[in-house]
Amino acid sequence: MAIATKRIYNFSAGPGAMPVPVLQRAQAEMLDWNGTGMSVMEMSHRGKAFTQIAEQTEAAVRNLMHVPSNYKLLFLQGGASLQFTMLAKNFLNGTADYVTTGAWGVRAVEAGKIEGNVNVAWDGKADKYNQAPDLTKLDYTADAAYLHITTNETIQGVDFLSDPTMPQDVICDMSSCIASRPFDVSKYAMVYAGAQKNLGPSGVCLVILREDMLERVPTGLPAMLDYKVQVDNGWMYNTPPCFGVYMLGLVCEHWIKFGGLGMVAKMNEAKAKVVYDAIDGSGGFYKPHAVQANRSLMNIPFTLPSDELTDKFVSEAKAQDMIELKGHRSVGGCRASIYNAFPIEGCRALAEFMKGFMAKNG
Ligand code: PMP
Repeated sequence: MAIATKRIYNFSAGPGAMPVPVLQRAQAEMLDWNGTGMSVMEMSHRGKAFTQIAEQTEAAVRNLMHVPSNYKLLFLQGGASLQFTMLAKNFLNGTADYVTTGAWGVRAVEAGKIEGNVNVAWDGKADKYNQAPDLTKLDYTADAAYLHITTNETIQGVDFLSDPTMPQDVICDMSSCIASRPFDVSKYAMVYAGAQKNLGPSGVCLVILREDMLERVPTGLPAMLDYKVQVDNGWMYNTPPCFGVYMLGLVCEHWIKFGGLGMVAKMNEAKAKVVYDAIDGSGGFYKPHAVQANRSLMNIPFTLPSDELTDKFVSEAKAQDMIELKGHRSVGGCRASIYNAFPIEGCRALAEFMKGFMAKNG
């Protein structure tokens, strides 16, 4: 069987690079999963084989992320974007506080406002979303329904870099940094993450929900948007994204075998250092977007002296098999997304390319 030998350096912000051993395993199991004579894509979600896959995936997530037993796992469709609405429909009773450190937090606020009262306790817009605040120093609503944060803002490359230690029920969008380092689930009432950056293919959104939150779910919600219905039906009220769930399980098993999230964090720190060193060593030719204290290890936006040089940089990088380096239009410049599965060799190749490009164009 032909196995692709050429792997491009894919700096995409998502869907992003997947671990090669996971892709190879999925390839090996594609036509016949575990002697069933079927692909995972062909199985009944209620059959014995997929039940086993679902259990293995749940176990792998719990094991990798040390999910306490009083938290439920859900694998839902509609991406992290649907969670903006769903969490508000289920939990926005009275007023909820939101801290907005970038574009995705803004989306969460917009969706929340449709469902109820939203208090934006902090918003980084004035500084073009280049930093995250100290959450313990902000003013919040008394008895807020929850506090919503986005750990890592994918577009701006701004990360809190630590778990919140807040008395409120914190609901957190962890889409672009989940499983990139150890995190303490017990610090959150709910964590959610679209899979397509660090966990698997798009189409699955992982939700980790503290079970007492279910007592707050109002009656009368549309079934698909009701966490209680989703939990009571073992996230199979309707047909779940079976293949994505299977892939997500393989990805988690891969990182468990790698040594767990402590090891993953060390790897990611080393990778990001290579790129940030190239930025910091450029004498201002490359300028980082985020302040030092909130630099994301997953998404590294940086600018060049002009739009012309930016375009030239992106197209010359592409010619050297480094793709998707163009920054989001709202920030401009470039962005290197280096999720868990992105190899350090790619970071080194980018850093070398950055030095060479500056020497020729600086
Ligand atoms: N939150 C963050 C932090 C994201 O990066 C993204 C996607 N880039 C989303 C939410 C939206 O995710 P989805 O496309 O799965 O709806």
